Amino acid sequence: MSSNGFDPETVRARYRAERDKRLVPGRADIRDLTRDEHFAGYRADPFTPVAERDPVTDEVDVVIVGGGIAGVLAGAQLRKAGVERIRIVDQAGGIGGTWYWNRYPGVMCDVESYIYLPMLEELDYVPRDRYASGEEIRLHLEALAERFDLATDALFHTGVTEASWDDEGARWRVQTDRGDELRARYYVLAVGILNLMKLPTIAGMERFAGHSFHSARWDYGYTGGRPGEPLTGLGDEVVGVIGTGATSIQCVPALADAARHLYVFQRTPSAIGVRGNRPTDPGFAATLRPGWQQDRMDNFQAVMLGRAVDADLVDDGWTQHYAAVQNPPRHEGMSIGDYLRGAEEIDFGIMEEHRSRVAELVADPTIAEILKPQYRYTCKRPCFHDEYLAAFNRPNVTLVDCPAGIEQVTERGPVIDGREYEVDCLVYATGFEAELTPLFRRAGHDVVGRDGTLAERWADGASSLYGMMVRGFPNLFAMPAPGQQAVVTVNYTQLAVFGAEVVGRLVGLLEAKGVRRCEVGAEAEEAWTQKVVDSFVDASHHLSACTPSRINMEGHPENANPRNGNYGRGFGDYFAYRQLIEGWLDRGDLDGLELQ
Ligand code: NDP
Repeated sequence: MSSNGFDPETVRARYRAERDKRLVPGRADIRDLTRDEHFAGYRADPFTPVAERDPVTDEVDVVIVGGGIAGVLAGAQLRKAGVERIRIVDQAGGIGGTWYWNRYPGVMCDVESYIYLPMLEELDYVPRDRYASGEEIRLHLEALAERFDLATDALFHTGVTEASWDDEGARWRVQTDRGDELRARYYVLAVGILNLMKLPTIAGMERFAGHSFHSARWDYGYTGGRPGEPLTGLGDEVVGVIGTGATSIQCVPALADAARHLYVFQRTPSAIGVRGNRPTDPGFAATLRPGWQQDRMDNFQAVMLGRAVDADLVDDGWTQHYAAVQNPPRHEGMSIGDYLRGAEEIDFGIMEEHRSRVAELVADPTIAEILKPQYRYTCKRPCFHDEYLAAFNRPNVTLVDCPAGIEQVTERGPVIDGREYEVDCLVYATGFEAELTPLFRRAGHDVVGRDGTLAERWADGASSLYGMMVRGFPNLFAMPAPGQQAVVTVNYTQLAVFGAEVVGRLVGLLEAKGVRRCEVGAEAEEAWTQKVVDSFVDASHHLSACTPSRINMEGHPENANPRNGNYGRGFGDYFAYRQLIEGWLDRGDLDGLELQ
C-alpha cells in the first residue's frame, strides 16, 4: 500500500462493486423525446410565445441550422468573409442554443468565462465573474448576433424538416415545419451537442399525476421566480429531482431553499470539485493585450493536453485535476506497468480529495457515504460546485440512493426498493443525448445529398474530411463536434471558434474562385477517415472498469466505433488539427475538394 493509502486491489474491487450495482439492463433506455407523443409538452418553449407568421420562400447565400454558439460564430465569420444573405433557422425562440433552453435556477458554465464567452475582444466585453451565468452567456450571444446582424433574418421557433441538395441548380432546398421553402448556396449544420433532451424510460412514468418537466425547459410558471432569483412558488410543494449530473447539482441548492421538501434521486454521485467563483478583478481588463483571449484558450487547451506552459492561466479544477489525470507522468525507460500504476495512484489521490470534501461538507456520515464518487475521475464528466453538497444538511432535503435506477413511477411519485416517494412535482434533470449521438440524429431532419441521406451514408460510422465536409453533400459544412472525426475540447467554445473560422475562410476562398459546387473527393475523404481510424486507441479494457456513463457507452465501451473517433489519440490533438487545416487554407489550393 502507498503512503496515501492506495491499495490497487482494494480500490479496484470497490469500484467494480459500485459499477456492478449500476450496470443493470435497460439503464440507458430512453424515450425518444423528439417524437414521443405522451411527453410532447416537454418540448414546448416555456420562455417565448410562438408568434404566427407567414411561410417564407426565398433564396439566400447560407442557411445555418442552429443559433447557438456554433451557429452565431459561423454567421459572424461568414459576415467577415463578406456573405450577405444569411438565415439562421432554430427551433428555439431566440439566439443562444443550449443557453437559450437551459435556464434552470443556478445555471452557469463551469468552464472559465474568459475562455468560454466567445469574441470578447471584438465586443470589448469582460464577463462579470470567473464563471458566467447562463443568462450572461445568452445575452452575450445575442449581442454577437446583433453585432453581425444575424437575428434579423433568423427564423426562430422553426424546425427544418428536410434539406436536400439540388445538383442541377447547385442549391440546398430547405423545408421547415412552418411551411418555409428556402434555397441556399451553402448549408451549415451547427445543431449543437446538447440539443436533444434525454428522458429515461421508467416503468409507469406516464401515469404520474403531478407536475413534471425536463430541466432544459424549466417551468418558472410553476416554480415561481426567474433565473438568478429565488423560486417563490414552491413553499407548499414537495419536489423530486431525478439525476445528479452537472445540471442537477446547479439547481438543487435553489430547490432546497424553496421547496417544502426536496427528494434528490441519485443513481451515480458526481465528483464535485471546488468551483471558486468570484467577481472579475476590476484591474483584470487593464492587464489584457490584443489576442489575449485566443492565448488564454490555447493556454487552457495546452494544459489539458499535458503540454508544458509557463503558467496555468485558468488554474481551476479542470487544469489541476482533469489535466493531471489525463496526462500522467511518463519518463523515459518507464515500463507500461509502472506508468499505468502511477496514473491509477494519481487518480486515486484526486478522488480521495473529492471524497474527503464530501465528508467535510455533509454532516451525516451515512448520507456522505452515498454521495462519495467511487470510480476513476474521468469515468464521468466531473462537476464543480460549492453549495450543492451542503444542501444535504438541510432537514427538508432527502437523498434517495437508487444505483439501479428508479423502479417505477406511480401517479404519486417514484418508487425505490418498494417505497413510494410522494411528490407534487418531478424534475427530470436527466441530461441530453450528448456527444455520442450521431450528427444526423442531432440534426433532427433528413439531410439528403447527391445519393441519399447522411443517416444512410454514416450508417456504419462517420466519413468526412476534417470532420466538417462529407462526400455526396456538396456545399455543406458541419461544425466540428465529438463523434465526428474532428477533435474534442473541454472548452467547446474553442472548437466552435475554430470551426467557424474554417467555414468563413473556406466560403471566402470558394467565392473568390467563383466556385458553384464544392465536394470532398473520394480519396481525400478516405484518407482522413483512415487517419482517424488509425489513431483510435482501444481503451475498452480500462473503460469497462468504469461506472457506466456516456463516456464508456453506458458500460459497453467495446461498442465504440473507431470511425467516430477523433484526429489524434483519445480526445484528439486540437493543435495539430488546427495547424493542419490552417495550413491547407493558407495554401488556398483546396486540395482534396472537387470544385466546379
Ligand atoms: P447528465 O447526463 O450529466 O446527468 C443525468 C443524470 O440523470 C445522471 O445523474 C444520471 O445518472 C441520471 N439519470 C438518467 N437516467 C436515470 C434514471 N433512469 N434513473 C435515475 N437517474 C437517472 O446530464 P446533465 O444535464 O447534468 O449534463 C449533461 C451535459 O451537459 C454535461 O455532461 C455537460 O457536458 C453539460 N453541462 C455542462 C454544464 C456546464 O457548466 N458546462 C452544466 C450542465 C450541463 P447516471 O449518472 O447514473 O447516468
